[in-house]
Amino acid sequence: MTARILVVDDVPANVKLLEARLLAEYFDVLSAADGFEALAVCEHHQVDIVLLDVMMPGMDGFEVCERLKENPRTSHIPVVMVTALDQPTDRVRGLKAGADDFLTKPVNDLQLISRVKSLVRLKTLSDELRMRMETANSIGMDDLLRAEGKGDDVGKVLLVDGRASSQERIIRALNPIAEVSAMSDPQAALFEAAERSFELVIVNSNFDDYDPLRLCSQLRSLDRTRFLPILLIAEQGADEMVMRALDLGVNDYIVRPVDANELVARSLTQIRRKRYNDRLRASVKETIELAVTDALTGLNNRRYLDSHLKALFKRATVRGRPLSVLITDIDRFKLVNDTYGHDAGDEVLREFAGRIRSTVRGADLACRFGGEEFVIVMPDTPEDVAASVAERLRSSVESMPFVLRSSGQALNLTASFGLSSRAIAIETPEQLMKQADRALYEAKKTGRNRVVAAAA
Ligand code: GH3
Ligand code: MG
Ligand code: MG
Repeated sequence: MTARILVVDDVPANVKLLEARLLAEYFDVLSAADGFEALAVCEHHQVDIVLLDVMMPGMDGFEVCERLKENPRTSHIPVVMVTALDQPTDRVRGLKAGADDFLTKPVNDLQLISRVKSLVRLKTLSDELRMRMETANSIGMDDLLRAEGKGDDVGKVLLVDGRASSQERIIRALNPIAEVSAMSDPQAALFEAAERSFELVIVNSNFDDYDPLRLCSQLRSLDRTRFLPILLIAEQGADEMVMRALDLGVNDYIVRPVDANELVARSLTQIRRKRYNDRLRASVKETIELAVTDALTGLNNRRYLDSHLKALFKRATVRGRPLSVLITDIDRFKLVNDTYGHDAGDEVLREFAGRIRSTVRGADLACRFGGEEFVIVMPDTPEDVAASVAERLRSSVESMPFVLRSSGQALNLTASFGLSSRAIAIETPEQLMKQADRALYEAKKTGRNRVVAAAA
């Protein structure tokens, strides 16, 4: 794992110390001696994580953190505040300033490296999602980050804890920021986590005869809980367990006795990150959906047909199953445009797509191929069945006039259909399409408003 860490501290000896430890783990290290320099470095260099001292002359760490989080160009960089051990209120202030994590001075090696690694892991995921999104050029980053700022609804937390007394304490501590469901049976908790939509699981390692890491690893391997953050509460000095937990993909840990402020801070960080990544994932999905959808009719577009037909064709060939393709083209559509205008033509296309949608099965793939031409791919469907689908569609076009919403005018339209089915002589999806296209041409030539099947 390589990442570039910026160490900010006004005391050169502190910088040197952190730098040496991070370099030993092969991190790339930059440094800044005050807040102004730190802001400039973040603005002009690619920085993955900032380790930020609180007490600095000129501009203190809280203000640096606030400014970083306010700037859209730097707001995604995780900030770790380095606070003095005897100042627990600093953590709350840091949290308000938008800090992602905390370390206390003197900085413990395991904590330093594991916190940094865990943040790098999270950031790598966000960065990749962000890059995909920027490539797709869909949503502005600013919107997402602003949405993150106001995402202050109460978090949904699942607490898995073997002791009633500590359950109570944790629920009380998290009360201002989260709604906590507590469970003491780890296996039941796993089901609960998969069934409901939590934003964080807190696993307390206080079971008499159960290895809490087992639950952590199960949570990581289930599809439904793969992206659910896990916060482990560990025994003091259980460094080896913590290390194994982090290797398993546990996102963060906290050591007993649990400090309420620290618990709140770490829980909030995980919940915010999850919401942020969920939003990114959703917008990537939306982008993909837009890329394969025809904007006018909502059917799949030609690009999607091209790639998906390949897959359907291959599957049908491997399994020896039938596969049919129907191409349909509205008859004399140009007349609609010429007589009633282009908008009326668009209306007809939408209605035509609607009739296709209500005629085909869910497993069929309906696409707008271009202009007033549509393609329906029917898996597991032999030619005679496909012909009856085509006939049903043909008659639904002919028998019901297309009523224009704008003028109320009713247009009587027809469409022609070309059909082909996979046979031994057909070796590629392109051949299958070509055959259907030839059949459509035949249907047009021989009078329109009819279904023609390609000769086998
Ligand atoms: P045929 O029976 O031989 O199919 O005659 P046609 O008039 O339907 O065929 P032609 O391919 O000559 O004309 C298709 C027309 O479809 C021409 C084009 O302007 C129109 N068209 C293509 N895409 C759109 C669209 O998105 N919206 C509208 N309104 N018209 C479109
Ligand atoms: Mg036409
Ligand atoms: Mg045409």
